[in-house]
Amino acid sequence: MSNNDISQRFIINDSGVRGQWTLLDSSFQTVIAKHDYPLEIQAILGEMMAAATLLTATLKFEGAMTIQARGTGVVSLLTVECTHDHKLRAIARWDGDTTAMSFRAMLGQSTLSITITPLNGERYQGVVPLDGNNLSQCLEHYFQHSEQLKTQIQLFHGNNRAGGLLLQVLPAHSGEKPDPEALKDEWDRVTSLARTLTAEELLNLDCATILYRLFHEETVQLFASEPVVFQCTCSRERTVNALIQLGKEELDSILAEQGKVDVTCQFCNERYVFDSVDVALFFQDSVVVPKPENSPLN
Ligand SMILES: [Zn+2]
Repeated sequence: MSNNDISQRFIINDSGVRGQWTLLDSSFQTVIAKHDYPLEIQAILGEMMAAATLLTATLKFEGAMTIQARGTGVVSLLTVECTHDHKLRAIARWDGDTTAMSFRAMLGQSTLSITITPLNGERYQGVVPLDGNNLSQCLEHYFQHSEQLKTQIQLFHGNNRAGGLLLQVLPAHSGEKPDPEALKDEWDRVTSLARTLTAEELLNLDCATILYRLFHEETVQLFASEPVVFQCTCSRERTVNALIQLGKEELDSILAEQGKVDVTCQFCNERYVFDSVDVALFFQDSVVVPKPENSPLN
């Protein structure tokens, strides 16, 4: 299967603005094929996947970023996780009819959290109320308020694809402020050019063509494209660790009732099944076996 899922970084020279573009094809299709999502939920999942890919690429870290919305409406949960090397997984939980519902109506009173979990180091979480009319507005507010970084995020989906374009003031520029007026003018200029981007263009053209259409009077430095893939981080070992947390008593009662412990990963539908022998082995390592009296190890 050819991979059309790409993320690509660029800098608009002299404007103090950096950018990131992404287009998700098979990774998006893999996510929506796992569950029978209504179209409205497919749309926000796709946009959230594109957003996570764009935002992860702007950070220098090794680990994973999770964007999560918990809602009080028909949709109770939307979660997208993206690793620094562009491995994506996503899930939504809903209950009820979403036909023709808007983003706000589906989620109701809701908060949006962005969690960064580095491989080494402390977790960082920012939470904001979902107060925009769409996901990109919410994320722009988040960056304005929490990170003090001017950010424009455009997200699109359609034709079984999702994608997005992000522009952000380079952090060095927001700190130095050599001429705030000039920087603001530059920001206004490039973001108004970027706003002419259509879903049709974003979902069908490559990054270089899009950048030429939007910024043909600028010098744009385009970096190498990087592949994005759907990949779930679940494993038998991680499932065992989660089950051990439940405790032997709980697992024994599941075994007594069902004859097995059957766990399905909510992200990828992978099934992990354990019988009574497996469960007994989970707890064996923690049993201290006394050494025999005359062991040479004594
Ligand atoms: Zn999984």
